[in-house]
Amino acid sequence: MSIPQERRVVTAIPGPKSQELLARKQAAVPSGIGTTLPVFVTRAGGGVVQDADGNSLIDFGSGIAVTNVGNAAPKVVERVTRQVADFTHTCFMVTPYESYVAVCEKLNELTPGDHDKRTFLVNSGAEAVENAVKVARHATGRQAVVVFDHGYHGRTLLTMTLTAKNMPYKHRFGPFAPEVYRVPLAYPFRWPTGPENCAEEAAAQAIDMISKQVGAENVAAVVIEPIAGEGGFIEPAKGFLPRIAEFCRDNGIVFVADEVQTGFARTGTLFACEDEGVVPDIIVTAKGIAGGLPLAAVTGRAELMDKVHVGGLGGTYGGNPLACEAALGVLETIAEEDLVGRARRIGEIMLPRLRAMKERFGVIGDVRGRGAMIAIELVVPGTKEPNPTAVQEVVKRCHAEGLLVLTAGTYGNVLRFLPPLVIPEHLLDEGLGILEKAIAAL
Ligand SMILES: *Cc1c(COP(=O)(O)O)cnc(C)c1O
Repeated sequence: MSIPQERRVVTAIPGPKSQELLARKQAAVPSGIGTTLPVFVTRAGGGVVQDADGNSLIDFGSGIAVTNVGNAAPKVVERVTRQVADFTHTCFMVTPYESYVAVCEKLNELTPGDHDKRTFLVNSGAEAVENAVKVARHATGRQAVVVFDHGYHGRTLLTMTLTAKNMPYKHRFGPFAPEVYRVPLAYPFRWPTGPENCAEEAAAQAIDMISKQVGAENVAAVVIEPIAGEGGFIEPAKGFLPRIAEFCRDNGIVFVADEVQTGFARTGTLFACEDEGVVPDIIVTAKGIAGGLPLAAVTGRAELMDKVHVGGLGGTYGGNPLACEAALGVLETIAEEDLVGRARRIGEIMLPRLRAMKERFGVIGDVRGRGAMIAIELVVPGTKEPNPTAVQEVVKRCHAEGLLVLTAGTYGNVLRFLPPLVIPEHLLDEGLGILEKAIAAL
C-alpha cells in the first residue's frame, strides 16, 4: 500500500486549501448537496483519506460503505486501467461484452439460495431498487409495495417514497408515488414492550397491517434492508426477517432484500441475509460492489426475472465495462484477502471497546451491529430520549482530530462506523481512542 497508513493532522480541519475549494464549491454547487467533512480529497487507500492540505484522516466511513476493499484497491486499479485502454462503452444492450456476463454469473452464484437466478446491472442503488419493484409488479400483476419504518431506499421519486424519513429525503419533494405502504420494523432498542417481545410483536403488527389494510393478494413486493442503514444500523430482532419472508412465500409476494449497504462482506457474511438463512426472491446490491465505480445489480429468481418482455429492462450505462471490471476485482479481493473474516475481526475489536464505553458514558444508549457495520445510539443519559446534539458534538471533535465518522438514524442520534475492511488494526485502535476522548469531553 503506497499511502502511509497513519493519521496526520497538520492544519486546521478544513485547512486553507480545502477552505478555498469549499468556497468554489459553494459558488458552483447547490447547497442541497451537503458535506459531512469539508476536506477535499487528493488520495485515499487502506484506512486513510488524504486531503489537499496534507492531512491524513482515519477513514471510518468508506465513502458510505462503498470502498469495502479499500480505495484504489490494486486488483480494481489493474483491471480498470486495462479496460479503459481497450474500450469504455458500447452499451450492453447494443453490443454485449464478457465482463457484464461474468459479474452476473458471480452474483447468481454468490447471493443467498441455490435456485436458478438471473442478474442485470444498473448504475445506482436507487435504480436497482426501482427495477426490483418493476420486475415484482410485472411478474405478479400486483401493484402494492410494502416497506418498513426507518427504511432507506434512495432518492428517486419511487425510492424516496419507499424511504421513511421526511427530512432531508422527502421534505417538499412530493407528491409521492402511489401504492406504497409502511409497516413497523422490529427495532429492539426502541420496542415499547422490550427487546424480548420485539420480533414476534413487530412481525404480527406488520402482517396484520398488510393483511387488513392492503390485502396480501394486492402486494407485489415487500422491500426490506436486512439491517436498516440510514435509519440507524437497526438490526431487526432475530426471527423478524424469517417471519416476514415466510409470510411473503405463503402469499405469493416477492421478498426483496435491499442489501445496497449491507452487501459484499460488510457484516461478516458476504450478504446480511445469510445471518438468519433468509433467501430473498430478489436481492438488490450496489455500494460495495465495485470499489467506488458506479454499479448496482438486481439478482432474482429466474422465473420472475425472465417474465419481463424483451427490452423492458436496461439503461444506457448499466453495467458499464469499467464498473464491471472493477466489480470482478472487488470479488477477487474479497475472496483472496478473506474480507468476510476481516469484517468479523473488525466487529470483534470494535464491539467490546464500544460496550466498555457504554458502561462509562450514560450518553451511549445502545451499541449494535455486525461485522464492520457498527453503530452507537446516543441518548439523554438515564433516558431513551434521542440526543442528536451530542452526536453533532462528538462528530465535530472526531473530525477535528482527523477521524472521519458518519451519522445516521431517524432521530439523527446515531454514530455509524463503516471502516474499509482492509483498515490496519492500529488505525482502528487509534480511531476508537479518538472517539472515546470525544465522548468523554461531552
Ligand atoms: C445508499 C442506499 C440506497 C441508494 O443507493 P444510491 O446508489 O445512492 O442510489 C438504497 N438502499 C440502501 C439500503 C442504501 O444504503
